[in-house]
Amino acid sequence: MSMERTVYVNGAFVAEGEAKISVFDRGFLFADGVYEVTSVLGGKLVDFPFHLRRLHRSLAALDMPGPAGDAELEAIHRALIAKNALDEGMVYLQVTRGAADRDFAYPAAPEPSLVMFTQARALADAPAGVHGIKVLTVPDIRWGRRDIKTVQLLAPSMAKMMARRAGCDDAWMVEDGFVTEGTSNNAWIVTTDGALVTRALSAAILHGITRAAVMEYAREAQMRIEERAFTVAEAMGAAEAFITAATAFVTPVVAIDGRQVGDGVPGPVTTRLRAIYVAESRRRAR
Ligand code: PLP
Repeated sequence: MSMERTVYVNGAFVAEGEAKISVFDRGFLFADGVYEVTSVLGGKLVDFPFHLRRLHRSLAALDMPGPAGDAELEAIHRALIAKNALDEGMVYLQVTRGAADRDFAYPAAPEPSLVMFTQARALADAPAGVHGIKVLTVPDIRWGRRDIKTVQLLAPSMAKMMARRAGCDDAWMVEDGFVTEGTSNNAWIVTTDGALVTRALSAAILHGITRAAVMEYAREAQMRIEERAFTVAEAMGAAEAFITAATAFVTPVVAIDGRQVGDGVPGPVTTRLRAIYVAESRRRAR
């Protein structure tokens, strides 16, 4: 087994094998918890202030108390990167409403649980980023508040497994004929006349930090952006398609339901956006 990581759990840095959470934790019993994943490049955090802001939004939406102040959360992130000598990968943060007798009603005085750990992984040179992925479309069976980043992830796990069984890499979820998003990423297409299309923000999708950054960089590069829903048929006929997420950056989608998108290889717009995203993220990482 590889060397044990140092993880953080409720105030302590401990070896991963020693970390413990109560069986009564509401994250475990009710998926009553929220999370964030911040990517790490060169030992630095990418867009961390935006992840903190979204964490606060998720907590507020669930009337969940914060586990620590922003400065402390940042300090724990940095300590974990240092203790684990993390150069590239991600820091995972999870806050739950903590342990309480099992009851659907929230406890009156919750003591939130805070867990954080690192995962090392090649991001900039990930094979999928270079060669692209194949997606399968599946019905979106998730709940109605996908804008809250909760740990209730069974529906997207099932979608991912359906995709894998069909020989694909990931799933795009579809509701009322329109693509909502990927299992853990936002979905984009590039139209034949060069516009970038991604679904507008609402409760139907997670408000991706990478989506927002890519939108900013695309505008700076004079690309046209349309925030609107698109159908599977439009995506299949698009010039290019891609996904965005903290650890996926900009990853090309080269096939949808077994039909190739464009030429069936990563297109020029996607390839350029990925290069811009990696360069800007390295520059902005703190
Ligand atoms: N959509 C879903 C459902 C996600 O789980 C994620 C995050 O992993 C994203 C979109 C992308 O969000 P971000 O760019 O903040 O990682």
